[in-house]
Amino acid sequence: MENQAAGDVAALITAAGRGVRAGGTVPKQYRPLAGAAMLRHTVRRFLDHPRIDRVRVVFQPDDRPHYDAAVGDLALDPPVAGGAERQESVLRGLEALADTPPALVLVHDAARPLVAAQTIDRVLDALSDHDAAIAAVPATDTLKRAGPGAVVAGTVDRAGIWRAQTPQGFRFATILAAHRDLRDRSLTDDAAVAEAAGIAVALVEGAEENMKVTTEADFDRAARLLDAGGEIRIGSGFDVHRFTAGGSVTLCGVEIPHDQSLAGHSDADVALHALTDALLGAIGEADIGAHFPPSDPRWRGAPSAVFLRHACGLIRDRGGRIVNADLTLICERPAIALHRDAMRTSVATLLEVEVDRIAVKATTTERLGFTGRGEGIAAQAVVSIEF
Ligand code: MG
Repeated sequence: MENQAAGDVAALITAAGRGVRAGGTVPKQYRPLAGAAMLRHTVRRFLDHPRIDRVRVVFQPDDRPHYDAAVGDLALDPPVAGGAERQESVLRGLEALADTPPALVLVHDAARPLVAAQTIDRVLDALSDHDAAIAAVPATDTLKRAGPGAVVAGTVDRAGIWRAQTPQGFRFATILAAHRDLRDRSLTDDAAVAEAAGIAVALVEGAEENMKVTTEADFDRAARLLDAGGEIRIGSGFDVHRFTAGGSVTLCGVEIPHDQSLAGHSDADVALHALTDALLGAIGEADIGAHFPPSDPRWRGAPSAVFLRHACGLIRDRGGRIVNADLTLICERPAIALHRDAMRTSVATLLEVEVDRIAVKATTTERLGFTGRGEGIAAQAVVSIEF
């Protein structure tokens, strides 16, 4: 599921098309859509996905100014010059990736800016036991074949008919070889290249929202969907652990030498417990104690990263993305400031987000109350999740 080694999955975004709106001059993938170029929306879906390691765009070099304006500030690998036909463009993209070949590649149309993280996950999951897998939607409308004069010439049996979308995912070496062998054929998508090479292509569930933005009506619909942007949810968590005899405390997954330790069934990482509860709270789940009962011997001495990863997995399963997390540690000692950078990095790594989305703050209670008397450490956390 989520265990590919780092550097394993590349996304290739095809943006070399010349589709220009009637009377317009900007290829559609660079047109503004809900406050950003369409290409930017599309690229971010892959950049933000925790299972994608690198993202590369195939473009027309003439479009360089549009490209730079749209995505020049994002952490993309250098763009690849495309060809005259889509198939040639994808081959050039694959050849560019072949310098440091990924295990898997997802090919995706720039004109599908609404691809959901779950769709990407389903394609990647299917690649664990297939060489190729594509997102697709079963045909639900009755299909008619038109005859002369736009009169129905017949009804097509829709059983087993699917509409192919992207992403289309492949074992990299397999699709590169197929594209090289079939470069002179004119095939409409990468799955067709795989099919022509005799590779079985798995169908996984795409989504109606993952439409190819082509017409003006599509632009309007995509803008509405992107503006709606799902919803933001907030979660909060609070935890306390008391001091006990020992020589270090673990906070945010960082072990800090101290003249006492924190008591608890697990590693007593009060900060990660508060954060885990915040994540669980944002999705209406029961608290950390319900998921990981202190009575269960499996969690004795367990690193609290286990609890945090479980909560992250539940959020991802629901299609959520962690926007930011804000942690406050409340204690007189140890001094948190010395370790704050390490704590932020640790939390960012555990949550698989950029470090600037994580805050770790510390305060005292002016020697008042249990933290003021040095009896323990309290932590609170707030997170926001975007769906
Ligand atoms: Mg706790």
